[in-house]
Amino acid sequence: MNEQAQIPRATAKRLPIYYRYLTFLEDAGTNRISSAELAEATKFDAATIRRDFSYFGALGKRGYGYDVKALLSFFAKVLDQNSLINVALIGVGNLGHALLNFNFHQSSNMRIAAAFDINEHRGKILSGVPIYDMSELEEQIKAQRINIAILTVPQEAAQDITDRLVKAGVKGIMNFTPLRVSVPKGVRVQNVDLTNELQTLVYFIQNYASITTGK
Ligand code: ATP
Repeated sequence: MNEQAQIPRATAKRLPIYYRYLTFLEDAGTNRISSAELAEATKFDAATIRRDFSYFGALGKRGYGYDVKALLSFFAKVLDQNSLINVALIGVGNLGHALLNFNFHQSSNMRIAAAFDINEHRGKILSGVPIYDMSELEEQIKAQRINIAILTVPQEAAQDITDRLVKAGVKGIMNFTPLRVSVPKGVRVQNVDLTNELQTLVYFIQNYASITTGK
């Protein structure tokens, strides 16, 4: 059965945040959690959380809350079944920030699930996406089974980060830096050079204006 059809997109996008926080609770040995506590931690309101969980047929009991282990194993299954494509974003500068806000809303099954930076916004959640320190890159990429990454760091950092991403198992890189990064066979790089694109357009307009306008 395809459960994705029944889960609203906004709910699906909150799932990794729930999942992450519940993993954290499980690691800390916490067995149950109320929607109010979850609301406090995730900054989603408790009613939203209860509604989200009800889509999953979950699982809360009055005066008891939710069983952390049960929720976790359920979410792991849902995340898998829905085959959501989780993408990592490296570098939360101007461009990275814009992409976080954009977050591929037209697509129901692709989204930025984790972002990384050396200093900006670390430890925060921006546009529903947790921002991790670069020291957590490999661990998070493996844990969230991410195999696609978007690179919006300064070009000096691009190759080193690419190497780390590849080692962590990333198979596709959308490279917004001007550097042409090297990758081993089996890894695909998609280069997106916005400045270059705009310059090309300007060049055509200046040199071929009469052709393109047909005058
Ligand atoms: P943009 O190029 O997206 O407009 P910007 O001008 O705000 O960004 P940049 O200097 O290009 O800033 O850096 C982009 C982001 O990458 C910043 O948030 C910066 O902290 C981060 N960054 C820089 N070096 C690294 C690194 N080695 N690893 C991870 N993030 C980095």
